[in-house]
Amino acid sequence: MQSPHPSPCALPPSLTVNPRLLPPLYLPLLAILLMFGCGYLAYHLSEQAGLRALADSGERQLELHARTVESAISTHTYLPSLLELEDGVSRLLLAPSEARRTRVNQYLEGLNQRSGSRAIYLLDRSGRVVATSNWRDADSFQGEDLSFRAYFQDALQGKPGRFYGVGSTTGEAGYYLAHGLRHDGQIIGVAVVKIRLDPLEQRWQRAQLQAFVSDDNGIVILSSDPARRFKSVLPLDAARRAQLAASLQYHWTRFEELQPLGRERLSADTELLTLAGANGARPLAYLAQTLSLNDPPWQFTLLSPVQEVRRAATSHGLLAAVAFALLAFLLIAWNERRKVLATRLAAREALEQANSQLERRITERTEHLRASNEHLKAQIRERRQAEESLRRTQDDLVQAGKLAVIGQMSTCIAHELNQPLAALRTLSGNTVRFLARGDSATASSNLQTIGELVDHMGRITASLRAFARRSDDRGEAELGKAVDAALFLLHPRLERTPLQIHRACADARLAIDQTRLEQILVNLIVNAADAMSAQADRQLWLAGQVDDGHYRLSVRDNGPGVPPALRGQLFEPFFTTKPGEQGLGLGLTLSASLAAAAGGSLAASHPDEGGTVFELRLPLLPPSPAESPRDE
Ligand code: ADP
Repeated sequence: MQSPHPSPCALPPSLTVNPRLLPPLYLPLLAILLMFGCGYLAYHLSEQAGLRALADSGERQLELHARTVESAISTHTYLPSLLELEDGVSRLLLAPSEARRTRVNQYLEGLNQRSGSRAIYLLDRSGRVVATSNWRDADSFQGEDLSFRAYFQDALQGKPGRFYGVGSTTGEAGYYLAHGLRHDGQIIGVAVVKIRLDPLEQRWQRAQLQAFVSDDNGIVILSSDPARRFKSVLPLDAARRAQLAASLQYHWTRFEELQPLGRERLSADTELLTLAGANGARPLAYLAQTLSLNDPPWQFTLLSPVQEVRRAATSHGLLAAVAFALLAFLLIAWNERRKVLATRLAAREALEQANSQLERRITERTEHLRASNEHLKAQIRERRQAEESLRRTQDDLVQAGKLAVIGQMSTCIAHELNQPLAALRTLSGNTVRFLARGDSATASSNLQTIGELVDHMGRITASLRAFARRSDDRGEAELGKAVDAALFLLHPRLERTPLQIHRACADARLAIDQTRLEQILVNLIVNAADAMSAQADRQLWLAGQVDDGHYRLSVRDNGPGVPPALRGQLFEPFFTTKPGEQGLGLGLTLSASLAAAAGGSLAASHPDEGGTVFELRLPLLPPSPAESPRDE
């Protein structure tokens, strides 16, 4: 029979823990790595975008300021050539005199004031200053020999002289514009205008612009940060240093390279420079954009600090990392929840499946039980019917057995009744005669005897009638009375073959009909008497004992016993060894069935010392209320 509960092994696989559902250890590590990656990517993209925007705005500024530098110079380029138009100038150069010099000095002084230049002066062909706008000043150029100046050499050859340099007298930086003055196609002198460019630097400083201008030697000549001034943006070797020092262009300046701490070229004219801060301040990174000026051939470099861009990129990187961490956390949480829900769903489905399977099994089992119940009920009905018919058959058998016994005993009964009848005949005849003689005393004595004889006959017929009466399974019997009744019934039979009877059975109340018990005893005693009929010594033992709620009565004789070959057939119906009509072979069958119907048994045993023992086992009844001791 199968258990209605499914064994744990039978649970669907979905109820077992799926190892894939356990969080893998590498996942947090991967998430952290991805978070850093995401942060770095955001930082990089933000920095690139910031640098692009910085470069765009820088380009505009670069263009604007570069043009400012150019225009600061170009506004003065016409000035030297202007002197050619002045007659006093050519007259002084051709025939110098103090009066002419003074006039030209005054002219130059006025021109200088109006043009806003630093100084305007005139050189003769030998390179000596013949007139100057600062002729009144103590450090006037008057008389100074400037023939070594490159711009003078160029102008003398008819080329425009352009020169940036630090003044040899004043030590003041300026830009020199020189022009060869012609008279009748001959260069008779050189006009020089010196302009100062430091107002540009001040303007840059005011605008908080970081910029510098390097000349064609690669030397920074203008810078918003004075610390960078006169530094070389090109590598300097010893020869180049010596060459620059010899030119005296930058007075006695000691040259140093503008050495960036880091340099990364982004495009042809844009690079990322890290420059040391002024006075030990921490280094700063700049986006350096360079534009070549048209005239003079200088380079304008604009430095845009990238600190803000990097700060913004750092914030963006951090923001992206935090956003990624948040997203990853949400994703992990969502995934975990999804897994838990999936597990719950699977478990619920499995449970529902197991439930429905169980219900189906229960329904099947109930159906099966109902069917077997119906089958059992049918069987019970059949058994009851069979029992009923068996009981009826048994009753018929009992009846038949009784009638058979009565039939067997009919000769004896007839003999038994004939004797009193004969006595009655004699006694009644005698009584008539005694009455006729008037002997009433003898007649009344005879009549009394007649009465006793009639009573005796009545008892015989009454016991026969009681014996022949139908009875049922239930009832109660008293063993002593049954033994007495059986012996009384068999009295005529036992007179022919007398037995020595040994009664060793206490009286007991047994759960069997009285008449049935009597019939069993009659059968057993008759069989014993029949078996011992051929021998002279006939002994019959009736012994009883109580055994576990039952009473065991053994009926033993010292007859010849049952041959071993026949012992197995003793209780078979119609088995008999008795000749002619003496035996029907129903006695033992009937007795065993009566004992069984009362809840007892009948069995035969064959002792070694001879004879046969029949053991009758019947359920005991409690003693009747009249016999039982009072509970007081
Ligand atoms: P019946 O008495 O009509 O033969 P029973 O069923 O009473 O039928 O007995 C069956 C047979 O059992 C008897 O014919 C006899 O051979 C044998 N039998 C019964 N009781 C004894 C006994 N006490 N000793 C020897 N044989 C017995």
